[in-house]
Amino acid sequence: MKRGFSLVELMIVIAIIGILATMAVPSFKKARDSAREKTCYSNISVIQGAVEMYNMDKRDQMETLDLDVLADSTNAYLKSKPQCPVAGGEYSNLEELSKNNGVITCSYHGTISYDESTDQKYKAAGSLHR
Ligand SMILES: [Zn+2]
Repeated sequence: MKRGFSLVELMIVIAIIGILATMAVPSFKKARDSAREKTCYSNISVIQGAVEMYNMDKRDQMETLDLDVLADSTNAYLKSKPQCPVAGGEYSNLEELSKNNGVITCSYHGTISYDESTDQKYKAAGSLHR
């Protein structure tokens, strides 16, 4: 009586595993990109909050985003400087921060803004790399 698997049986099993792997890899990549984007928008929200606190406290309002000042141990509006999870993503401001529409943006992911009609945050500008 024959025992074990034949070569053809093994090849069929390996081929099925390969097909499943090729279907899974793109969805992993998509999930990872989505998680990085959400992390970045979370960072932007945190930075905007820190800038608002800074501007309420100080006589000279912050006009250009300076993460070093916000994360300074004497100010400590941020515990540490937030970094975009994608290498090369840098945070900056679109317009003067002391004004109402001072918006923080990421050089990779763009910015978030608030849609009052749907009551949801959405991507408005940026995303040059998509
Ligand atoms: Zn980013």
